[in-house]
Order: sequence, then structure tokens, then C-alpha cells
Amino acid sequence: MRGQRYELVQFHFHHPAEERINGQSFPMVIHMVHRSAAGELAVVALLVEVGEANPIVNHLWSRLPFLPGQTSQLASNLFSLTDLLPNDKSYFVFTGSLTTPPCTENVLWLVMQQPITLSTAQVATFGQVYPLNSRPLQPVNNRLIQASQPVNAVAASF
Ligand SMILES: [Zn+2]
Repeated sequence: MRGQRYELVQFHFHHPAEERINGQSFPMVIHMVHRSAAGELAVVALLVEVGEANPIVNHLWSRLPFLPGQTSQLASNLFSLTDLLPNDKSYFVFTGSLTTPPCTENVLWLVMQQPITLSTAQVATFGQVYPLNSRPLQPVNNRLIQASQPVNAVAASF
């Protein structure tokens, strides 16, 4: 992205989503946190809408801790996280902050324009453990939100 290589550090979920597109809210979002060698952060946000069950999320939920803060182990060869990405790789990009303390600034945010789907049951399963783990919507202020170029030009940058 922008001439920098970012490696995935961790990913996590919020219920409900912390982003809106044209005022539309979403039941969940997946944040994939990436870091460059220079320590710069880039987060890819995958918005979730209710629809078909997601097979990768089934793998994840099979090990979902029952209590917030608990951890569990997952085999790394079960699936590829890139398979979570929507078919349409268009995204919105802007500079913001991490949404949890220390709320680090100058984070590059890439919000995929096409939501992925989880089933009603998959959303409800997460919601039982984390009824509300989102930061309230933040004002846009004077920040520039850009839409990505046509998909084919963008795919290579992922
Ligand atoms: Zn997050």
C-alpha cells in the first residue's frame, strides 16, 4: 500500500461495526491490523451484513472463548484470511486512529466497500460474548475519505 509493505499483526471483531457507509450501519466489522517495518499501522476493515453463513467464521467460532479476555488456539493451516475478503476489492481509505486505547493516531484505514456476510446465528454467537465492544461513531471532521481506483488497478496493491 502506497509503496509500503504491511504485515498482518492481528485481527479482531467489533459488534456492532464502528464504521458506517452513507449512514448505513452494520452488525459487525472485522479489523485486520497490519504494521510496516517502520512501525506504521494500516487496518483493513471488513464490514459484515447478515446473509449466508461464512465458512471461515465457522472455524473461528468453533474456538470462540466463552468469556471476554479469554484466548484460545487455532491451527494456522485451516484457512487463509485472504479468503475472508469480498470479491469486490474496492475500498475507502482515510487516516484515523486505533479505536481502542492507546488510540494511536496516523493509522491508515482501508474500509472494504462490499460487506461480507455472516448468518444471523453467527452474529448472535459473537454478540452473546461481546454484546457491545465498539467505539461510538467518530466525526469525519475535515478528513479526506478517498475511494479506491477501479478494482483491477487496486488488486495488485493488496
Ligand atoms: Zn478494531
